[in-house]
Amino acid sequence: MTGIDQFPRRCWAEIDLAALERNLIAIKAALPPHIRYIAVVKADAYGHGMNQTVARLMQAGIDMYGVANVAEAATIREIGGSGWSILVLGATLQDEAPFLFEYDLTPTLSTVEEVAFLDRMAAERGATLKVHLKIDTGMGRLGIWHENANTLFEALKAASHLQLDGIYTHFAHAETDVEFTERQRRRFMTAIAAVDWIQPEKLLIHADNSAGLTSFSRESAYNAVRIGLLQFGITPYAQSLFAKVPTTPIFSFKTRIAIVKDLPAGTEISYGRTCRLKRPSKIAILCAGYGDGIPRALSNKGFALIQGQRCPYLGRVTMDQTIIDVTDLDPLPRAGDEVCLIGTQNDGEIKIEQFARWAGTISWEILCSITKRVPRIYKTSIATG
Ligand SMILES: *Cc1c(COP(=O)(O)O)cnc(C)c1O
Repeated sequence: MTGIDQFPRRCWAEIDLAALERNLIAIKAALPPHIRYIAVVKADAYGHGMNQTVARLMQAGIDMYGVANVAEAATIREIGGSGWSILVLGATLQDEAPFLFEYDLTPTLSTVEEVAFLDRMAAERGATLKVHLKIDTGMGRLGIWHENANTLFEALKAASHLQLDGIYTHFAHAETDVEFTERQRRRFMTAIAAVDWIQPEKLLIHADNSAGLTSFSRESAYNAVRIGLLQFGITPYAQSLFAKVPTTPIFSFKTRIAIVKDLPAGTEISYGRTCRLKRPSKIAILCAGYGDGIPRALSNKGFALIQGQRCPYLGRVTMDQTIIDVTDLDPLPRAGDEVCLIGTQNDGEIKIEQFARWAGTISWEILCSITKRVPRIYKTSIATG
């Protein structure tokens, strides 16, 4: 046996499941009580680990899971057994469709062709399949364009083996453009109002992702939300209202110092020699690089925490190692010391939102880029407070 757990850790992620549960409670408390909570856990629960995240959310009181595809949905079924509602947010390929029946999943339908295909398949099996219809109100991705929504509703009405369970849309710019988001909301409600044979209050009507909560209206017809990033305690847009829900980050990313050494002024650091030392320096070589998920875009940008102090990255990030400047630390750190790449250490903190900005990207992508080499370590204490 050579499981990774038998070796000392060089780079790892710590995930606080109690904080996840507290975040969920805080988000639900900020919403009216009738609003159903669809927990979005696609892409390995945003890199936090599907199994542990899903299991904790089951205890914490969610109403439905949202995933990208049938394979992710099947994982949830295997963890939680039957009974949990699972919405497949991506489009389902025809050869994936049998798994919708096998695992009792709810697909998202955007086209008349999808409706006809699944209705035939359900009829052949003598089954009834619950479905959500998606309306494109300005994202230009999945969903039927709102002006044509009636054709999709008509197709569904004729599909005797499909049962309408929900209708939704997705926002393109909810974090910063309230006006465009309002336009999307109006298009969505207009498309729904045009269908006289449905009872929206008996369906799940949903639009809001984390950023959507910025303009969530209590008076509206919505009765569900689809939350991903916010439940992990990440609020990329500090100005937006949803940042006011009191959540805390649940994810930290850590590594250790391999060696500390002296280099003379004028030395050029790492591949491509992109960083020239201005002074005689002490540098620390970290046990992690882009092979672990430190973006190469952090080359010569941003900071890591040692002793709670911010130490700048020097030169290119490499596959297994990254170099930082520790000249100003007193006492000097030593080989083996812990380094915090994302998270808190003593009085220092590096938020993932900040880390993502340094790397020129977004928190979602950072979480999806922490690689398989990085073990996820779970804190599983009971949520209090
Ligand atoms: C990923 C996703 C969400 C969750 O978005 P967050 O911004 O992470 O809250 C909601 N709806 C759909 C359709 C998604 O694909």
